[in-house]
Amino acid sequence: MKRIVILGAGESGAGAAILAQKQGLDVFVSDMGTIKPEYQALLNEHHIPFESGHHTEALILKADEVIKSPGISLNAPLIQKLMAQHTPILSEIEFAARYTDAKMICITGSNGKTTTTSLIFDMLYRAGLNVGLAGNIGNSLALQVAQEQHDYYVIELSSFQLDNMYDFRADIAILLNITPDHLDRYDFQFQNYVNAKFRITQNQTPQQAFIYWSEDPVINREIARIHPQATLYPFGTNEHNVAYTDGKNMFVAADKQVEPLQIGLEQLALRGKHNQLNSMAASIAAQILHINNDVIRESLMQFAGVSHRLQYVATVKGVRYINDSKATNVNSCWYALESMTTPTVLILGGKDKGNDYSEIDDLVREKCHTLVFMGLHNEKLHEHFDRFGLRIIDTHSLQDAVRACYEAAHDGDTVLLSPCCASFDLFRSYEDRGDQFMAEVSKL
Ligand code: ADP
Repeated sequence: MKRIVILGAGESGAGAAILAQKQGLDVFVSDMGTIKPEYQALLNEHHIPFESGHHTEALILKADEVIKSPGISLNAPLIQKLMAQHTPILSEIEFAARYTDAKMICITGSNGKTTTTSLIFDMLYRAGLNVGLAGNIGNSLALQVAQEQHDYYVIELSSFQLDNMYDFRADIAILLNITPDHLDRYDFQFQNYVNAKFRITQNQTPQQAFIYWSEDPVINREIARIHPQATLYPFGTNEHNVAYTDGKNMFVAADKQVEPLQIGLEQLALRGKHNQLNSMAASIAAQILHINNDVIRESLMQFAGVSHRLQYVATVKGVRYINDSKATNVNSCWYALESMTTPTVLILGGKDKGNDYSEIDDLVREKCHTLVFMGLHNEKLHEHFDRFGLRIIDTHSLQDAVRACYEAAHDGDTVLLSPCCASFDLFRSYEDRGDQFMAEVSKL
């Protein structure tokens, strides 16, 4: 019997274990950390053997295939050993896709993945399709393939998932943008990260679709270099694109059999330039699937958005507080600042992933009067921003940061938590950071 070893028992690992067992494979799960009680319960319920707190190498190296959690680096010693003995290492998505014929709509990019994935899911769901939402959101693809039968899956893919995908083919692939992120996991080589992102187009033929932002220089350079085989669906700001905006309206003409979709930018539920791009990408995907323009329009106008992404929290003494905790890299903070319409107090800091802050220099100068640093180590922020002549406040906890913002902000200002950094120095996750921010603001 084929032996599958699953490394990491989070959402994707636990789901993969259940699917593997259902397929009659010999499964063993190993997690170096503590497995969350709900996943332990799930594994016990299915009588799947597992270990936590350590890896028993002898059991792992015997695997015919290994399914690796995206959280485990390819540079981890155990992974290196498996690679050296040529054991195939797959992502959970690659594994799960072997057992379904559903149409796969896959979304990647440095920023905007969750928003765009959720918006596409909303469109397909409103259209009455039997659709599942997977990847970094909700239940894992593997669990859904094991327990539900969807005809379509809308899947958010990180570069780490793409790293271990080989035979998988997306029916519709979306690449929103590529800016430096996670460089610590890619040997500080931007091209390695770019290559991972472009794996979303692998195995595609002209029968499949590749939707991408045509004004992203990195994407354009790569397209010219590798010539993806899929049919191309670019979006941007000129009329040569399949979807474009002209400053007033958005037009989408991916389905030649129907009139192009036209909608006023003011009517879009999601605000900000970045969300116009996300809305175009989603609408193209929906049109390719022949979803009626009225349904797409309704979704674009009513979609409620996703928490921790430019989420309005409250107004206290005339100051608006915005939770953009999901801005874990510099480019997403750029878009958040770009959408600010008032003087801004910006909270920055956390676990730096090799950031180059110069990308936001102009916007910080233009929009911010105070920067509040909130991290275990704020030295790099000081090194970069101290010379700007803005007010700078150094803090090491969320409580102190919110208090500092409260004192620094004036009536009419916005306080923006858009930290450019991962949250793991002081918080469990970006959700935890955003939740704590909202809780602190509610105490003001
Ligand atoms: P991801 O899942 O890729 O991390 P999200 O949809 O969660 O992306 O959005 C994260 C943050 O990135 C948002 O708070 C917003 O500030 C920014 N953002 C969203 N869409 C885009 C985009 N298309 N381009 C650049 N930044 C974006």
